[in-house]
Formats: sequence, structure tokens, C-alpha cells
Amino acid sequence: MPDGSDESEKPKYPRILMKISGEALMGDQSFGLHPPTVKRIAEEVQKVHELGVEICLVIGGGNIFRGLSGSAQGMDRTSADYMGMLATIMNALGMQSALEGLGIHTRVISAIPMDQICEPYIRRRAVRHLEKKRVCIFAAGTGNPYFTTDTAATLRAMEMNCGAIYKGTQVDGIYDSDPRENPDAVRYDRVSYDEVLTKNLKVMDASAIALARDNDLPIIVFSLNHPGGFASVLSGTGKFTIVEAA
Ligand code: UDP
Repeated sequence: MPDGSDESEKPKYPRILMKISGEALMGDQSFGLHPPTVKRIAEEVQKVHELGVEICLVIGGGNIFRGLSGSAQGMDRTSADYMGMLATIMNALGMQSALEGLGIHTRVISAIPMDQICEPYIRRRAVRHLEKKRVCIFAAGTGNPYFTTDTAATLRAMEMNCGAIYKGTQVDGIYDSDPRENPDAVRYDRVSYDEVLTKNLKVMDASAIALARDNDLPIIVFSLNHPGGFASVLSGTGKFTIVEAA
């Protein structure tokens, strides 16, 4: 684990992607966005931005709509997935507003063109925004049904040459079972992609893990619930689990 020395306090990667699920924005509610929670997460992003790190953000849509639950209730799966993608746009706009309230320049970049609301995804343009230290919020997932925002996060992280994906969750790493339900759950400091897949550890969906594995992209899982936690994990001093090659 990190030793807290000066050397380890420098961010390890100059450019990273942070993935959060839509549910992280709900606070104590059972649906939608909770603005104080969105602001709290935006403050976490601000601390990392102040370190000079270039930040990509991917936010899910599960707090509003998930394609699978729509199709389970009889909707056409493709239409339901498009509704899920639209949900991610709403979350992205909510986060954009919170970040800009803190004085951070941002761009919402959508995989589905929506010119009045946000920019279309153009890789080189997005890279330029990052170089200018604007936080890029990638919305509408991959733009394709049957995918998830975990896969979108992995894809964008690779396209943007990010050093790693930081997945902010409700717990401080990866456990063999849910520590909120099982007090004997065992926590990993480090785990391989293949172990995540074979043990079916709940980190990201299998296609996202396989894509990260095939491209050697580390996934770092940490808690969103400790103030300053994201910045300390980036500097290597906080508590996290890293998923990397064996
Ligand atoms: N979605 C999709 N294609 C994508 C990304 C997302 O169809 O590339 C849809 C899918 O229906 C998904 C919903 O958007 O259920 C919300 O995304 P996700 O479930 O990944 O959100 P999270 O669980 O991270 O909140």
C-alpha cells in the first residue's frame, strides 16, 4: 500500500477518467439527482483538478432509467436503451452545472449529437479541451444500445489516452461480497482482470473489464464518501483497490 512519502503524493497519471454510476448522484433519495450530493462529488473533482490532472468524466444513468428494467417491463430494448442514454445526458448536465458553480470549465460531449444542449463527440476536439484543462463529461454512453456506461468509460479512457479509470463507489474498494450486507466480506488491495471475471466481482460489467484487460488499462476503485478521497487516491495515499494484469 502507499507509504505517504512526498514522491507518492504527486498524481501518478496526468490524465484520468472518473466513472460514477447514476446512483451515486441520488444521495438518500431513491430516484433522480440530489443537488447537494452532486455538488459534493463536484468538489471531489475540483480537488483533483487543482492538482493539474486532466479529467474525463463518465456518469451512468441508473438513477433515472436503465434499459434492462424498461425492457423487462415489455418495452422494446433498443428504445429503452436510448432512454437510458438520455438519462446520462441529464446527469451530465447536472454535473456540469455543479462544476461550473465551482468555477471549473467543462464540456458535455455526447455520443449522440444534440447540438443545442452539448457538443458532439469529436476525438481530437475532446483532447484539445483536456489540454486546456477543461473537464470533459462524456455523455450518452457509447451511443449504442446493448452497451453500458462502464464500457463507454473504458472506450473513452482509451481514446483519450487516460492512465487509468477511477471508479468512485459507496465502498472503499473491491470485496468478495457486499460489505454493507456481509460483515465478513474480504477486501482486495489488488486483483487481476481475470479474477474479477472468474469470481464475478462486482466492479464493472464483464465487457468493460475485458476491454480494459485487453488494453492494459488499470481500474482503481475507491469510495466517494470520504472528503478529499479522490485526490488522495490519485496521489496514491488513499484507500483503493487496483485491478490490473496478474
Ligand atoms: N446505455 C446504452 N448504451 C451505452 C450506455 C448506456 O444503451 O453505451 C443505456 C442502458 O440502457 C443503460 C442506461 O443507458 O442501462 C444507463 O447506463 P448504466 O446502466 O451504465 O448506468 P449506471 O448503472 O452506471 O448508473
